Amino acid sequence: MVKSNLYRLRSMINRLKSRTRVTVFYHQYLHNMGEEMEQMRQLCSELDMGFESAWAHLMPLEKSVLICEESVDSLNEEDRFIYELLVLKPDKASEICREYTVPCPLRDNQTAINFDGTAALCCGVYEPEHFLGNFLDIPYAELQDLKHDNPMCKTCMKHGLHLSGVYGQGTTAGQRMDAAADRQLRAANLDVWTD
Ligand code: SF4
Repeated sequence: MVKSNLYRLRSMINRLKSRTRVTVFYHQYLHNMGEEMEQMRQLCSELDMGFESAWAHLMPLEKSVLICEESVDSLNEEDRFIYELLVLKPDKASEICREYTVPCPLRDNQTAINFDGTAALCCGVYEPEHFLGNFLDIPYAELQDLKHDNPMCKTCMKHGLHLSGVYGQGTTAGQRMDAAADRQLRAANLDVWTD
């Protein structure tokens, strides 16, 4: 399905002579690295599309918060299954990132707007209680104040999830998380390694 959509997308871009650039962002799990990831990289090259990859996160953010506040046993069966496929587990990422005291770049530099115009704390939260109101009705400064007052951000930052969410951006947490992910891959006995 994904591949056929990429072919269709390339065909439409060519037909319309569009200058739109497409980049595939590949989420790395324990089961889809190695050969499968290489095939996608090659397909992107064939279709003249960009290719980027990163460790998959457990989404939404509320679930990672649940793990950090309680435990992985609090997840339902479906989420637990996805958790087991993650290379970089949220609790491991939190263990590393909570050592860093840095502001949240998603909160400070981005405005996440949902399909219906509601602004959210960030692109990682899906629960309506973390939406702030209609983007068009709230002045920017007020929107930022609402984010700064929100308890979810405080909890998220306490566990370092704001930093793991951006792969340790601007800190050494990124390398440490990559090292932790490598160890996880080795423990899973897979024949794939990070660069
Ligand atoms: S602190 Fe967490 S919940 Fe708040 S904006 Fe940043 S990533 Fe999102």
